[in-house]
Amino acid sequence: MATVLAKPSSATRLCTLCAGLKTRRCGTCKGWVLEDTGSPVTAVYDPVEYSQKHALDAFIAGIRPTRIQPLTGGMSTLMTVWTPAALTADCRYLLPHECAAERAETTSSDPE
Ligand SMILES: [Zn+2]
Repeated sequence: MATVLAKPSSATRLCTLCAGLKTRRCGTCKGWVLEDTGSPVTAVYDPVEYSQKHALDAFIAGIRPTRIQPLTGGMSTLMTVWTPAALTADCRYLLPHECAAERAETTSSDPE
């Protein structure tokens, strides 16, 4: 098991956009994930920006998407989506990391 997948460029870009967002490897599936260290409860996302349509599908399936909300000045902030009306086409969305091995419910993580 020496396979090391390259860190997705989208993940690196998102980390420069969103304060508190960091990349790390999932302890279970070893894939790259995004961790929101700025929120009280650590959230772990897949390092992929999803479209409105995909986020809506997830919402309907009971998964709560996170909106990448652009701020003035070029930065972005992450906002939890509570209603489908908040899923607008002008934004991209993150979805919780759904681990291949087990559902990611990490409360502890290894800081890099
Ligand atoms: Zn995982």
